[in-house]
Amino acid sequence: MTGFDPCVGEDGWMAASIYDDLFGVARSAPDRPCLLLDDHEWTYGRLDRRAGQFVGALAQRGLTVGDRLVVQVDKSADAVALYLACLRTGVVHVPLNTAYTPTEVAFFATDAGAGLFVGRPGHRPPADVPADTLGGSDGGTLAYLADRQTDLPPVVERSGDDWAAMLYTSGTTGRSKGAMLSCSNLVANARALHDAWRFEPDDVLLHVLPIFHVHGLFVALHCAFLAGASVRFHERFDVESVRRDLRRSTVMMGVPTHYVRLLADPTFSADDAASMRLFTSGSAPLSAADHEAFTARTGHRIVERYGMTETMILTSNPYDGDRVQGTVGYPLAGVELRVTSEAGSPAAPGEVGTVEIRGDGVFLGYWQLPEKTADSYRDDGWFVTGDLGLLDASGRLTLVGRGSDLIISGGLNIYPKEIEAVLDAVDGVVETAVVGVPDPDFGEAVVAVVVATSGSDLDEHTLRSTCDEHLARFKHPKRYVVVDALPRNAMGKVQKAMLREQLRP
Ligand code: AMP
Repeated sequence: MTGFDPCVGEDGWMAASIYDDLFGVARSAPDRPCLLLDDHEWTYGRLDRRAGQFVGALAQRGLTVGDRLVVQVDKSADAVALYLACLRTGVVHVPLNTAYTPTEVAFFATDAGAGLFVGRPGHRPPADVPADTLGGSDGGTLAYLADRQTDLPPVVERSGDDWAAMLYTSGTTGRSKGAMLSCSNLVANARALHDAWRFEPDDVLLHVLPIFHVHGLFVALHCAFLAGASVRFHERFDVESVRRDLRRSTVMMGVPTHYVRLLADPTFSADDAASMRLFTSGSAPLSAADHEAFTARTGHRIVERYGMTETMILTSNPYDGDRVQGTVGYPLAGVELRVTSEAGSPAAPGEVGTVEIRGDGVFLGYWQLPEKTADSYRDDGWFVTGDLGLLDASGRLTLVGRGSDLIISGGLNIYPKEIEAVLDAVDGVVETAVVGVPDPDFGEAVVAVVVATSGSDLDEHTLRSTCDEHLARFKHPKRYVVVDALPRNAMGKVQKAMLREQLRP
């Protein structure tokens, strides 16, 4: 398509509203195709109108600027419209992983002080929180209410520091924290990525990520929206349909597991990727072997990037120039990055230290946890990511591990403490240690090491069914190993690094 001028705000970051900043194409080119689904397509104008209808529905449910809308919904055009409605009206969007159990959902909805919870058809609504269903066959759903809105309210003005969204990160102590992101966090990062990855109106983004996480909701959608590009929207990652649609796309954003799955199909080849100009990977480390194998198979070098919920995307391998496997590239525009040695001084090139950052994407703080927020900054105002890394002489970052024991499996973060707490409560369990071990498909797999009381008849079935009851499936251990005692250091701390080594397949 030619003659189209994408609306990426030449005159500074913020228009009067984040909605117009990110979704201004809906005004300048409403007929452009936006979401491409299997059997139908949504133009920018149609999605804009649907967002306006959801604004009316939210208002009817009593939500106003600053109220929290907690959603646990499947990936759909209406789910995107509902997110856009929040940006349009100043309601804070709080998306939840669709795998969370009702117990987990109840915690988040209550913690967020949800003005409304919106779930899937048949969901169990959290007690004491007003709840709705997004869609479904019966009347009375939020979508049904939206269908009946004819007067579309105007876009609400917002400033950069205003609160736009909250995403829960799993807490290392088992207590999840709500990371509050501002309007300018979202806009600044979208703009930096749009420019770094050279988004164009003609791009077609193959969208295979969930939309309850920064990667799929903000990174992918915002880049496309800023450019006025189209988004081929897949509900889930399925190799066959991804292969079909790669041939009709130009960009794909994935997690390493996606690339591993494509490579596992022996017939996946350069022909599948012939129309593509960019593959990106992030959320978890992409192995050098997979990076190389993908290049050998397709001729494309994946652009690996690094970020976190609290900071948005921080670094990326260059669009032009060397995309070096095993590295996450250079800081994006608007990001300052330093690596600090254990002594607190700047690490020398090649020296491992803590990755610390400052910049436009750094969040407003953890919801109702001012001390946790304060603890995550150095005295001089730099945010401590918790990741360990090193810079080379040119300023290129390589991540070498995590300061915490975070496990990333299939691109999703899992904190061992939360699983340990569930297993420790099982009758016959003395203690447990949960670690991640390398896994060719998921990146890392969860393994639970369990010490049982002597003489107990503890079996794996009991442990598994306890996890079924309390934890989302992606957090369940893939393996249980019963031992007599956990390895501990002189200070009494469990030596997880040693366990990881012993359990390595
Ligand atoms: P999340 O907040 O869910 O986005 O998870 C953030 C964490 O994911 C970071 O602190 C890193 O530990 C990890 N991460 C993100 N991108 C990468 C990457 N490209 N390589 C290695 N780890 C990554």
